[in-house]
Amino acid sequence: VGHTLSERIAIVGSGIIGLCSAYFLVEKGYTVTVFDPKELGNCSVGNAGMVVPSHFVPLAAPGMVQMGLKMLLNPESPFGFHLPPSVDQLLWSWKFIRSCTKVHVQKHESLLRDMNLESRALYDQMSEKLGIGFEWHKKGLLMLCAKQETLEAEAHLAERANQIGVRAEILDSAKLKSVDPTIEMAAIGAVHFLDDGHLTPESFLQKLRLFLELQGVDFVSRMVVSLEMRNDSPTVATADEVRSFQQVILATGALSSELARKLHLRLPMMAGKGYSFNLPNPVQTPELCSILVEARVAVTPMTSGLRFAGTMEIGPPNETVNPKRLNGIKKSIPKYFPQFKEADFEEKEVWLGHRPCSPDGIPYVGRIQHRPQFIVATGHSMMGLSLGPISGQYVAKIVSGEISDTGLLDPNRYA
Ligand SMILES: Cc1cc2nc3c(=O)[nH]c(=O)nc-3n(C[C@H](O)[C@H](O)[C@H](O)COP(=O)(O)OP(=O)(O)OC[C@H]3O[C@@H](n4cnc5c(N)ncnc54)[C@H](O)[C@@H]3O)c2cc1C
Repeated sequence: VGHTLSERIAIVGSGIIGLCSAYFLVEKGYTVTVFDPKELGNCSVGNAGMVVPSHFVPLAAPGMVQMGLKMLLNPESPFGFHLPPSVDQLLWSWKFIRSCTKVHVQKHESLLRDMNLESRALYDQMSEKLGIGFEWHKKGLLMLCAKQETLEAEAHLAERANQIGVRAEILDSAKLKSVDPTIEMAAIGAVHFLDDGHLTPESFLQKLRLFLELQGVDFVSRMVVSLEMRNDSPTVATADEVRSFQQVILATGALSSELARKLHLRLPMMAGKGYSFNLPNPVQTPELCSILVEARVAVTPMTSGLRFAGTMEIGPPNETVNPKRLNGIKKSIPKYFPQFKEADFEEKEVWLGHRPCSPDGIPYVGRIQHRPQFIVATGHSMMGLSLGPISGQYVAKIVSGEISDTGLLDPNRYA
C-alpha cells in the first residue's frame, strides 16, 4: 500500500525464510512479490517449532560421521542415508566429513549463538505484532537423557553453553520433576536450556502470510522455472510469464541447488528428510518442549496437540515415508514418557519435510558474487524455524545495502 515508487523485490519460496524476508522488506517499504505453489513452505509447517539458542553446534561436528555410520546399521535409527547415493550426494558427504572438526565448531559457535538469540528477540516483536504473543512460549527446552553417558555429554555441552552466554542447567530426576510437573518423565536427568522456546509453526506462518497480504505483498502461486539477467534486470520466469525486478531472493529450501545452477552458482544442498505427527488429545501434556536425546525425537506442545518429530534421512528430496524409521520414533516415546503407549500413535497422519542441509551445517545468506542482483537465503538445516526472523532481517539489510559482507554465511563459499 502506497509503495508504488519503491524498489520491486521478488522472493522465491514462501517458507519461514521467504516469509520472514518479506516481513522485513515490507517494513523497510519495499514492494514484494512472493512466488511459490505452496502457501506456507515445505519444511516450515510440520516441524518441531523450537527456537533454539541451545543449538550453537552445527550439524557438521566431531563424532557425527561415526554416529551416523553406527546408526545406518539399524533401520529404526533416527539417521538414514539414501542408497545408492547420487554423485551430488557423494560430493556433499565429502564436504560434510571435512567439516566435522573441532575447529569448524569453534569457528561457527558464536555466529549460531548470536543469530539464534537475535532471532528469539525478533520472535518477541513479530508475535506481538501478529497478535499471537500468547502462542510463543519461552520456558526453555529439556534435553531428556535415558543413559548416564548421554547425560554426561549433554552436561559437557551445557558447560560450554554457559561459558558462551547461553543459559543451561543440569537437572537430576528430582529437579526435572519440579521443572515440569505436568508430565511423568522416566529420564535419569536432563539439561534445561533456559533461553529456548517454542511455538506452533503453521499458526505463526498463517498469521504472517495474512499480515503480508494485508500489507500488499503479492503472492503468485506458481513454480519458478528459471532465473536470469535480461537487459540488466534480474528476471523470474514461471511457465506463464517472465517478470523483471530490481532484486530477487532465493529462499527455496532443499530445492535450491537447481535454481542456483541456473545462475551458475554451485550451492551444495541435500534434503534431510524428517517426519512428525500430532496427538490432539494426549494423556498428558508437558509445558516445556523436549528432545529425547538418545532417540533424537523432538516433543512439542502445540495449539493443535502434542507433536512428535524426528529422523534425518540425507538424500535428494523424495516423498516416501519409511515405516521403520517412523516406528523408531513411536517406540522411543514411552521410554521417556511412561504414560504413553506405542498404540497411542497408530494411524496418525504423518507429515514429512525436507530440511535444507548445507554440507557444513551453516546457512547460505548473501549476494551471489557474479550476479549481485540475486540474494540467497537458505541451507538452515535443523534450525530454519529458529533462524527465520534473523535471516529475514539480514536479507532486508542486504537488499537495502546496510550489510554488504555476510562473512561465514557467504553463499559463494563452494563456488
Ligand atoms: C522433522 C523436522 C523437525 C524440525 N524441527 C525444527 C525445530 O524445532 N526448529 C527449527 O528451527 N527448525 C526445525 N526444523 C527445520 C526447519 O523446518 C527448516 O530449516 C525450515 O523450515 C526451512 O525453511 P525454508 O523456508 O528454507 O524452506 P521451506 O519451508 O522448505 O520452503 C521452501 C519453499 O520453496 C519453494 N520452492 C522451491 N523451489 C521453488 C521454485 N522453483 N519455485 C517456487 N517455489 C519453490 C517450495 O515449494 C517451498 O515451499 C525441522 C525440520 C524437520 C523436517
